[in-house]
Amino acid sequence: MSIPFIDLKAQYQALKPQIQARIDSVLEHGQYIMGPEVKELEDKLVAFTGAKHCISCASGTEALLMSLMALGIGLGDEVITTPFTFVATAEAIALLGAKPIFVDIEPDTCNINAKLIEAKITSRTKAIMPVSLYGQPADMDEINAIAYRYGNIPVIEDAAQSFGATYKGRKSCNLSTIGCTSFFPSKPLGCYGDGGAIFTNDDVIAQALREIRLHGQSQRYVHTRIGVGGRMDTLQCAIVLAKLERFDWEVQQRLEGGRRYNQKLDQAGIHRVQQRPDRTSVFAQYSVFVKERESLQKYLAEAGIPTAVHYPVPLNEQPAYKHLCCPDCTPVSSKLAKSVLSLPMSADLGIVIQTRVVQVLANAVEATLA
Ligand SMILES: *Cc1c(COP(=O)(O)O)cnc(C)c1O
Repeated sequence: MSIPFIDLKAQYQALKPQIQARIDSVLEHGQYIMGPEVKELEDKLVAFTGAKHCISCASGTEALLMSLMALGIGLGDEVITTPFTFVATAEAIALLGAKPIFVDIEPDTCNINAKLIEAKITSRTKAIMPVSLYGQPADMDEINAIAYRYGNIPVIEDAAQSFGATYKGRKSCNLSTIGCTSFFPSKPLGCYGDGGAIFTNDDVIAQALREIRLHGQSQRYVHTRIGVGGRMDTLQCAIVLAKLERFDWEVQQRLEGGRRYNQKLDQAGIHRVQQRPDRTSVFAQYSVFVKERESLQKYLAEAGIPTAVHYPVPLNEQPAYKHLCCPDCTPVSSKLAKSVLSLPMSADLGIVIQTRVVQVLANAVEATLA
């Protein structure tokens, strides 16, 4: 039995006719850039998240960058974020000449620890950028409340991994000033290339984002601000539209799959990332905490079980970022980066595979620690 880490083939097989029809339709009408599917997708995503505006864009990274640009963030500004994330989070901040200020994480969820944010706020703090890691929203109400107390600092949720998740009944991407997601193929809602989207309820920010996406253009050849070439292709929008047809079901499958892993791993006595009762995760990654990670991964690979590490090094220890923060000021991140391990996860995973993964993992833990 060969187990895929993320099963994109099963998803394609299930949606093949819809995806093919959507692609054919774009090839027939020929509006490859800003075609009708772009608006159609944005309208559907507005309905899904409940946010007032959706601005599709070239990628999750571009979504973060454009959001910071729309808020006017630049040289000398500070943006509070987590070091326990994919590099794009801090990269977008640094690209604009602003400084990522790293705040440590909660040891059980791996999300930014809201209790530690206040101590890092200065007069230069221009945004707070929590990441909804592994598909579970960060403590957004707590973070919004802190931001409000300090002069209504904008909060950008990096929701690249959490599209479809909920927080106190509200949808991820619609939990703060701006929400950014990614349609990278392996994310919970993916396209077949690069894509992303930005959500906001603020009309002024939405208009700024629409202009920034099109080279700062407010009318044809009138460039009122500095922008980027940040559009999402019509073809990629068409593919996401086809995938949306089954997305509610997929979210449900991910939720059930996550709960099954929880139960089986708890029974086996293996430590795992926890979920808070007031939110749901879409389990972009399902992660456990292990000792002897390298030998465990090797053991699992030999048994046909692929694993991955999200992420092996916190950003404040990366060569390009380590001068921005004391390397040991986020000890929980440093410690957990050495022990997190992601197991196979997708909507089409199924109970048989999960049982086998946990069984082999439990055997491996015993073997490697013996
Ligand atoms: C994937 C990801 C991004 C970047 O998204 P792309 O579409 O690959 O540019 C940003 N932040 C986080 C947390 C991610 O997981």
